[in-house]
Amino acid sequence: FCWRNASRSCQVYRNSHSIPQQLNSIVHDGRTEPGKSTDAPGSLSGKTVAVKDNIVTKDLPTTAASRILTGYVSSFDATVVQLLRQHGAIISAKTNLDEFGMGSHSQHSHAGAVLSPFSRGGVPLSPGGSSGGSAVAVATGQCWAALGTDTGGSVRLPAAYTGIVGFKPSYGLVSRRGVIQYANSLDTQDPTSLSATVRERLGHKGADAKRLRIGVPIEYNIDELSPVVRATYLRTLKALQNAGHILQPVSLPTTQQALSAYYVLAPAEASSNLAKYDGIRYGYRTPGSDASPKNNSPLYASTRGEGFGEEVQRRILLGAYTLSSEAIDNYFIQAQKVRRLVQRDFDKVFAQPNPLLDRQTGAHGDDGGVEVLLTPTAPTLPPTIEEVKQQSPVESYMNDVFTVPASLAGLPAISVPVRINGKEADGLEGTDVHDVGMQLVGQFGNDELVLQAAEVVV
Ligand code: GLN
Repeated sequence: FCWRNASRSCQVYRNSHSIPQQLNSIVHDGRTEPGKSTDAPGSLSGKTVAVKDNIVTKDLPTTAASRILTGYVSSFDATVVQLLRQHGAIISAKTNLDEFGMGSHSQHSHAGAVLSPFSRGGVPLSPGGSSGGSAVAVATGQCWAALGTDTGGSVRLPAAYTGIVGFKPSYGLVSRRGVIQYANSLDTQDPTSLSATVRERLGHKGADAKRLRIGVPIEYNIDELSPVVRATYLRTLKALQNAGHILQPVSLPTTQQALSAYYVLAPAEASSNLAKYDGIRYGYRTPGSDASPKNNSPLYASTRGEGFGEEVQRRILLGAYTLSSEAIDNYFIQAQKVRRLVQRDFDKVFAQPNPLLDRQTGAHGDDGGVEVLLTPTAPTLPPTIEEVKQQSPVESYMNDVFTVPASLAGLPAISVPVRINGKEADGLEGTDVHDVGMQLVGQFGNDELVLQAAEVVV
C-alpha cells in the first residue's frame, strides 16, 4: 500500500549510475499541473506521494497501464488520494505498473517496461510488479512515499526487489473506492471498507516489541530458495533470537496449494471485472468501428483484442474458462476451498483469534501461538529483465509464492529490506551486498503490531 524510503536503499541508489527518468517509473508527472498547492497544512504537509496509475485522480489521467483506458480521466479522486490531499500531501506523479496490476515484473505495460535502478552484469534487474513504478520512484528518491495496490503481492514483491519497505494492510482497512478493480476479494482495499464496529473491535493491539513470539513456517523452506535468500533468512532469525525474541516453528500445510488457488481465483474475478471495458463506455475504441443498436460484438472483439495486452488477455481467457459450467467445480470451487484452508492454517498458529470469525480461533495462551510470522518475501533475488523474458507465464507466477497466502487470508503483511554481505554470510561466495526482502505477516487487524515488528527486523 505504501512505501517509505529505507535510508539504506537510498545509499545503494546513490552508488548506482542510473538516471531516474530512464527507468520509466512515472507515467504522468503531477507537479506541473496548474492550481497545485504545495503548502496545504496537515501531517503530510509538503510530502510528495506518487500514486500507482490504477488509482483514480481527477487532475491526472488514469490508464492502469492499459491501452483500453487511453484518454480516461476520472471525475473524482480515489478515497486514498482524497485522504492524502486532506493531510497536506502533494500527489507528485502517477506511476507505471503491469497492466491492471497483472504481473510480477512491471514489464506488461502499455507505457513500456519499468526498469530497476539496480543491475547485474550490466543488465537491469526486474523491479518486481505490479507496483514496480511506485517502488522505483521511492527507491530513487523521486517521492517521499508511493501508493501501490497489493492483490497478491504487488506491493511487497517490488519492495523486496528494490530494497525498500512495502506494506499491505488487512483486507478492508483502507477504502478501495477509486481503485480500478482487478480481483475484488483480494484487492486490499475493500469497496465498502470495514464498518466502524469492526474497526472498534480490532482496537489497537500493540505488542511487547522487545519479546516478540515469531512463527517460522516450516513449509516456506522450499528447495527453490536461493542461497542468498536462505542465508539472509537464517541470519535474521538468529539475530532476532539473540535479541531476546522467541522463535517457534509452525506449520501452514495448505501454503503449498495457495499459489495455484490464487491463480484460479484472481483471473476469475478479473475476467468478470474487465468485462466493462468494451469500447462503448471507456477509453479506447478500435478506430472506424461504430456502436450499433443491433450487434456490437465485432466492436467489442476488435476493441478488446487491441486494447488489452497479452497477459491481461491470458487472464481473461483463463478466468472465463474456470468460471464456465464445465470447469467451475474442478477449478473455481476447489480454489475457494483451498482459500478457506489457507485462512484456517493461519488462524491455528496465531495466538490472537481472528476478529472476523464468531467461533474462537487461534492457538491461545503463552506457549501456543505466535504474534507474527517471518518468511522471505520472495524465493530469489530479482531476476534480470533478460531472465524475465525467458520465463514462461507460470514461472513468473512463482515469484508470488510467499506473498499470496497472506492475500488469500486478507492478513496484514510487510516486506522490509535486510542487508547481507556475501563475505560475511556462511556459505555465500563473493563480496556483493544485497538487500533481501523479509516478510512479516500478522493476524487480521494487527496492522500496528506488524509495523512494530518490522521496525525490530529492519
Ligand atoms: N503478481 C500477481 C498477479 O499478477 C499479483 C498482482 C497484484 O498484487 N496486483 O496477479
